[in-house]
Amino acid sequence: MQRHYDVIIIGAGPGGIYSAYELMKLAPALKVAVIEQGHALEQRRCPIDGDKIKSCIKCKTCSIMSGFGGAGAFSDGKYNITNDFGGTLYEKIGKDKALELMKYVDAVNMAYGGEGARIFSTAGTRFKKLCIQNKLTLLDASVRHLGTDLNYVVLKNLFAELKDSVDFRFDTPVEDVEVKDGYLVRTKDEIYSCDKLIISVGRSGSAWMEGLCKRLGIPTHSNRVDLGVRVELPAVVFSHLTDELYESKIVYRTEGYEDNVRTFCMNPNGIVVTENTNGIVTVNGHSYESEDMHTENTNFALLVSKHFTEPFNDSNLYGESIARLSNMLGGGVIVQRFGDLVRGRRSTVKRIEKGLVRPTLAATPGDLSLVLPKRILDGIIEMIYALDKIAQGTANDDTLLYGVEVKFYNMEVAIDDRLMCEGYDGLYVIGDGSGITHSLSHASASGVFVAREIAKAQ
Ligand SMILES: Cc1cc2nc3c(=O)[nH]c(=O)nc-3n(C[C@H](O)[C@H](O)[C@H](O)COP(=O)(O)OP(=O)(O)OC[C@H]3O[C@@H](n4cnc5c(N)ncnc54)[C@H](O)[C@@H]3O)c2cc1C
Repeated sequence: MQRHYDVIIIGAGPGGIYSAYELMKLAPALKVAVIEQGHALEQRRCPIDGDKIKSCIKCKTCSIMSGFGGAGAFSDGKYNITNDFGGTLYEKIGKDKALELMKYVDAVNMAYGGEGARIFSTAGTRFKKLCIQNKLTLLDASVRHLGTDLNYVVLKNLFAELKDSVDFRFDTPVEDVEVKDGYLVRTKDEIYSCDKLIISVGRSGSAWMEGLCKRLGIPTHSNRVDLGVRVELPAVVFSHLTDELYESKIVYRTEGYEDNVRTFCMNPNGIVVTENTNGIVTVNGHSYESEDMHTENTNFALLVSKHFTEPFNDSNLYGESIARLSNMLGGGVIVQRFGDLVRGRRSTVKRIEKGLVRPTLAATPGDLSLVLPKRILDGIIEMIYALDKIAQGTANDDTLLYGVEVKFYNMEVAIDDRLMCEGYDGLYVIGDGSGITHSLSHASASGVFVAREIAKAQ
């Protein structure tokens, strides 16, 4: 028999979780289900143990990207409250509303176990001036750093609160959606029906989302891809910035090409990790709030955005091809000393061992200039020298660069200012799967927004 719900949410990432949470609070009479292809939180475990399994074995569903908590579950839990980066949700719902919702989610996170996590702000700091004096721009933001450990506690508590009011189906990929008296949601073994459907499938659901948009005739357009490297250096080099700001989003405009290179996802005393998106291994970073888990290093990404239009318009495919090239040459992630890169030679195990920065990820020593296009690499090198002026030691020979780091963005789905697909009443697309968010805060805020829209209509 077909099971009917008032609202079905596809995907249990921050977008899906916060839709479910807000519906539970505002419209408790509604029957709500969340269908998620990945595992329940406590069953999410990446098999890489650094001992028997050293690199990605390409599991059917990646426990880093999928399951309760979505891609954010083992993230650094940097909750950025800003319209300056992390998505363009504000273009749909307005800047004030977007900020209000991000602050609301932050308050909920605090109430469910995040209490005590520090909040940092760039407002009125001396670093703004220091950056401008060195051709760098520091973006405005408040950031709550939950850390991977507290982030997990918040998710565990939210699930405990939701589980009696919302039906969760884990390990259940949604295969298709049909329009029939509302919506039919097909999985391998069952068909569910609903009046309202919230799709929040994130980055890992991008291929599926694209297929669905094609089948339903929902317009989409290509988004950008960000390419670059993850930098790892001794934590003291950046400590004056990270102690005060935790994360500093800094933009540099290159002299040669006038491209913008930016820092992204800064992890003081953190670790460098691999990430698997649809079988492609790229690099990322984490850090823990608990001091026991701190390392002696800080890592952050340096990224350049690329957007293609004519005659080639698949920005993600471009990013994928470069990541595949790096996977082909390095068997996964490549690591290179900055000194080796500027001298035009590959790094070797010996050179890395002799260096003063102890790598936190076992990557393959190699040559990033064989992977990254010259224009991108030139920009990254220029920015490292610019950063050296505000954080002396950044351009040291032993600074490690891991590649490639790629930030894939979903194509943008045509949604209106209610985040509803044009021509499909009651079909909402939110979070990173919509292409308009790419952060915990924006994705969560979009979830609260649609839940309030649905509750308002009751
Ligand atoms: C390692 C890492 C670190 C990060 N660190 C930060 C950070 O510190 N701060 C920050 O702001 N952002 C960070 N991000 C990004 C952040 O995690 C995402 O922006 C956020 O999780 C997006 O939320 P979402 O709900 O839109 O999608 P997701 O979190 O991707 O959740 C989507 C869910 O949908 C499920 N799904 C997909 N397709 C289907 C289907 N067909 N059927 C059923 N389920 C499906 C997926 O399994 C997934 O669980 C990080 C990401 C990664 C990978």
